[in-house]
Amino acid sequence: MVAGSIRGLTIVAGVRLVNLTKRFGDVVAVSKVNLEIRDGEFLVLVGPSGCGKTTCLRMIAGLEEPSEGEIWIGDRLVNDVSPKDRNIAMVFQNYALYPHMSAYDNMAFALRLRRTPRAAIDARVRQAARMLGIEELLNRRPRELSGGQRQRVALGRAIVRDPSVFLMDEPLSNLDAKMRVETRAELIKLHRRLGVTTVYVTHDQLEAMTMGDRIVVMKDGVVQQVDTPLGLFYNPSNVFVASFIGTPPMNLVEAEVVAGEDGVYIDASDFQVKLPQSKAPIAEPHAGKPVIFGLRPNDLYDRDLSPTVQASDGNTLTAKVEVVEPMGAEAVLYLSVGQTRLVASVGSTTRARENHPIEMVLDLEAAYLFDSETGEAILTAATGHEEILRNSSDDSVPTT
Ligand code: ATP
Repeated sequence: MVAGSIRGLTIVAGVRLVNLTKRFGDVVAVSKVNLEIRDGEFLVLVGPSGCGKTTCLRMIAGLEEPSEGEIWIGDRLVNDVSPKDRNIAMVFQNYALYPHMSAYDNMAFALRLRRTPRAAIDARVRQAARMLGIEELLNRRPRELSGGQRQRVALGRAIVRDPSVFLMDEPLSNLDAKMRVETRAELIKLHRRLGVTTVYVTHDQLEAMTMGDRIVVMKDGVVQQVDTPLGLFYNPSNVFVASFIGTPPMNLVEAEVVAGEDGVYIDASDFQVKLPQSKAPIAEPHAGKPVIFGLRPNDLYDRDLSPTVQASDGNTLTAKVEVVEPMGAEAVLYLSVGQTRLVASVGSTTRARENHPIEMVLDLEAAYLFDSETGEAILTAATGHEEILRNSSDDSVPTT
């Protein structure tokens, strides 16, 4: 349901993209995107540079004309509606503030163009400034503000317009790391308060994971998966999504499924592990075929630190410690087993020493397998453990 509805004074609306495609000459920047963004939802488009996320956003904004497909905002087909009549507000990475105007005038500008009465403009600018904690800064020009303050003014300028939809293109990427984390939390609070449908573009998977109600992962113009943060993390649809989401990234190792007499094994040449009962029946039909075995770094445990996972012949290996990276609460270990490289995130009390052997225990309940040829997931950490996705929506497969 994407029809517009009245919430307070703001008309909010969902957004629907139907077969949305954009070609620049031979380059297909966006390919047949089908997506239903719910009324009031915070949806993040994420993917590596050049995957088409900005082009998607610009088409919703009306700044780029689709080569094919439809864009609906609420119950209105907006393909032929000019940007200013789409009732959207866009926030960019570079703030795009007018340098010669005060923060107040920057925020008031669009309302003055619309000939909104002066008293109403004043009330809306001050209300937005209060919400954003910039009331004291309204008389300053952009060059007299910090990056974070400028970004707030840019947000304020979007808020005062009471849009049906916010479109945000990497709005935090000019801020330093600490400021980015703070502003991220503020944006989420603001979204909860305003309830306006928001489409947010970022290349930063961590930002996507912490902010999105749902996340769209794109690659080469094609939607790979639409899911909740937990859904993407525990149940990625393919090896690209698995490797893109999560830090440090998932370990991915070429291997073969081997059906033995006493169970199903993953043979990765340099080591062999035995799949638990919850996974074995799903892997077994792939016996003899090449697969990609995946395990997230925090599912490899230092055996000396009494892992919660019971060690057995089928889930332990001896590795050589190449590098230890202390991170505070945990340590990241770069390991080698023969030619295979593995990364493990372990407790900071680890006694791992560079160039020394270490015994690792693998939690194979959290193992992933992908088809080597297609990259499609065969089994994931969620397989047999569907309870971990309980808070994750399942009605999120609008890709073609
Ligand atoms: P980034 O994070 O680097 O901004 P993105 O995911 O937002 O990347 P887009 O900017 O949407 O990607 O670009 C998608 C593809 O379309 C890229 O290959 C890009 O080079 C191409 N492209 C974008 N705009 C144009 C244009 N105006 N003319 C030609 N090619 C373009």
